[in-house]
Amino acid sequence: MSFLAGLNDAQRRAVDHHEGPLLVVAGAGSGKTRALTHRIAHLIGEHGADPAQILAVTFTNKAAREMKERLEVLLAQKLAQSQYGQPWSTLPPVDQRQLRSRIYREVSKELWIGTFHALFARMLRYDIDKFKDAEGLSWTKQFSIYDEADAQSLVKEIVTQELQLDPKRFEPKKTRWAISNAKNQGWLPDQLEANAEGQRGKLTANVYRRYRRALAANNALDFDDLLLLPVQLLQQNEQVRSYWHRRFAHVLVDEYQDTNRTQYDLIKLLVTDGKDPQTYNNWSGRSVFVVGDADQSIYSFRAADFTILMGFQEDFGDQAPDDATRTMVKLEENYRSTATILAAANALIANNSERIDKVLRPTRGDGELITLTRCDDEIAEAEAVVHRLRTMEAANPELSWGDMAVLYRTNAQSRSIEESLVRWGIPYIVVGGLRFYDRREIKDLLAYLRLLVNPADTVSLLRVINVPKRGIGKTTIQRLTDAANQLGIPLWDVVSDAEAVRSLGGRSARGLLQFCELLHDLRRQVQEVAPSELIQQVMEKSGYISELIAEGTDEAEERRRNLQELVNAALQYQEENEEGDLEGFLATAALSSDADSKDTAADRVTLMTLHSSKGLEFPVVCLVGLEQGLFPSYRSLDDPASLEEERRLCYVGITRAKERLFLSHASERRLWGGMREAAVPSVFLSELPEALVQGDLPQSGGAALRRERRLERLTRVDRDRPSSAPANAVRRRQAGPAPGRSWSVGDRVTHASFGVGEITHTFGSGEKVSIAVKFAGMGPKILDPRLAPIEPI
Ligand code: ATP
Ligand code: MG
Repeated sequence: MSFLAGLNDAQRRAVDHHEGPLLVVAGAGSGKTRALTHRIAHLIGEHGADPAQILAVTFTNKAAREMKERLEVLLAQKLAQSQYGQPWSTLPPVDQRQLRSRIYREVSKELWIGTFHALFARMLRYDIDKFKDAEGLSWTKQFSIYDEADAQSLVKEIVTQELQLDPKRFEPKKTRWAISNAKNQGWLPDQLEANAEGQRGKLTANVYRRYRRALAANNALDFDDLLLLPVQLLQQNEQVRSYWHRRFAHVLVDEYQDTNRTQYDLIKLLVTDGKDPQTYNNWSGRSVFVVGDADQSIYSFRAADFTILMGFQEDFGDQAPDDATRTMVKLEENYRSTATILAAANALIANNSERIDKVLRPTRGDGELITLTRCDDEIAEAEAVVHRLRTMEAANPELSWGDMAVLYRTNAQSRSIEESLVRWGIPYIVVGGLRFYDRREIKDLLAYLRLLVNPADTVSLLRVINVPKRGIGKTTIQRLTDAANQLGIPLWDVVSDAEAVRSLGGRSARGLLQFCELLHDLRRQVQEVAPSELIQQVMEKSGYISELIAEGTDEAEERRRNLQELVNAALQYQEENEEGDLEGFLATAALSSDADSKDTAADRVTLMTLHSSKGLEFPVVCLVGLEQGLFPSYRSLDDPASLEEERRLCYVGITRAKERLFLSHASERRLWGGMREAAVPSVFLSELPEALVQGDLPQSGGAALRRERRLERLTRVDRDRPSSAPANAVRRRQAGPAPGRSWSVGDRVTHASFGVGEITHTFGSGEKVSIAVKFAGMGPKILDPRLAPIEPI
């Protein structure tokens, strides 16, 4: 058994590539992630790489978990062969268990697989105390990780309390966003100030400066810091850098097209030990392996930049043609989707001008046509979707609810779909929305835990000092805070000064003493008991649970259940990390996103945004809300670059489907809680080859035309680009040239309104053929040659 089994030649080349840089570029579903996973197994199992030398970056925590599981299976199969000379499945359970635990001990535990944030937070747990910034700020290994809400509350405090600025003018959210932006560009407050225009910019820089100091005073980092600090640390400290460089001999990155500059800097620092990658040549026993697809770059709003992917080869110094093939592998076969779904995806993405054309051939049969449904409104759309899902489930015994997904552009769209699913009693899970860890009771509990680890964490202290209520008044808290500020010490040091507290007298003093005693008592347990047990103790000893029980409402009961779920999350964490400690659990909680919910595999329909669907696959996919202004989004309508990103998002959505793809749009939609608005079908629908789509294709009629005029605002792009007219305008039924003519790539044609063009693709065959034609001065058009007014030249 070899780790190269189940791979095609190109994948094998990628997996077997031993040393040096390698870029794998390929379209959706071509086995990039599979190649990356097999490569890790191959490095360990064939090249004898130490698992601790491997750093693999995934886009979500869930993807990391799945990759680890997959690896364990691959390695277990191999070990079963070499140790017992028989396939894994035939081993008795006792031997299977023994092998598994060996793989866990020797491999899984040592592997660093995770998101950029998770991996570098882990690195900081080792080395953050060696970091000192220009202002002398520093952190200890017990640092807290602040989420958006925590970060915003710090900013708000600075804006309103410290600087006494008008929070209407300096909205904490926007100010926090401006700071985050600066951080993403690698700017410190001085640089922001230098680049700031006008007084407002200077004030923002000032807030930023104080915000950083406040974070340091709380011994806390925000999400941006988890990447920015490691960059600075690796830049400034040669010893630290050289350690991690030597340690991670093999660096692998999935979804490389969504890497941003800071992440790229981290990769470079680690891989080349801070040397210029162009001339770096010390590749003995080392490699950097990145896989991606520029057509699936969908996170530019988070500073992701797919030119980083395109520049990989040049950056790593291999520009000669033979070297170029040596450092790049292209995968050209799609294993995921039916030929029909793939042809639709290929045709759609061909409309983007900013791209490198790629080959992506189907390996599967044609399958069913794509179904397009036009609905009256979002409620009818939801009913139609649920009807499809039920029909599919009933007709195909092999399909379960877990095989189906509904994808949409915005979270708000899930509501109507959920209502229909509930009506029909279909189990589902919504990925996104309120994160489990953002619920009030969960944040309260986590604040207790953070405070136990990191007494300097004043944000957490303030959150729980009087929760549940222990009679500590606001004025008392303010007095203590003032005292701490004056003395320049953490609030906890003041609060835990029993003598000073006693001198306050009254109810507040009693409450404070009781609170401190509680924390002292719990803190003694931190090293003694597992995180799950500690959570249980916090819940009970703080009185949190008894308060919820006393409240007795449904809501309180729900909160209690959520807390129980937190205990389960900790148990799961302990299972996956035998030596995991409280800090580790807190980092996992802080960095979990809803896309990581552990049981998406359960038998439930998955509802999620297109953005979170990246990398996943489902036999049945419903893509809803294909309307101008919704998908593509309103903001992209008059911005060609954003429109291209929306199209990539649509490409991602379509290519999630393995067997069946259902598209839908509504004629009217109530969104953002506002008025119903008439909606025009998405331009993307008109870009799909007609021959691949069945259903009630929208026809243009008097009503539709009137509606279109009313909605001129929404269709600006369509007016500017006649080619991108909405589906109902394009799909005219007219007599075209005689049927039976054959069309091939490279043929030239003339079109009644677009002029002369060249055929760049053909889709389908015979009666069902459709073609992509590139006309001068515009993107390629997908045409049905039987209907379009074209003539061959
Ligand atoms: P995406 O761009 O969406 O992330 P990807 O390129 O990472 O896709 P994978 O998820 O690795 O693609 O693979 C897509 C599907 O094809 C998976 O179900 C995978 O198991 C299967 N697959 C990959 N390579 C092969 C192969 N050589 N033979 C058979 N099936 C394969
Ligand atoms: Mg993938």
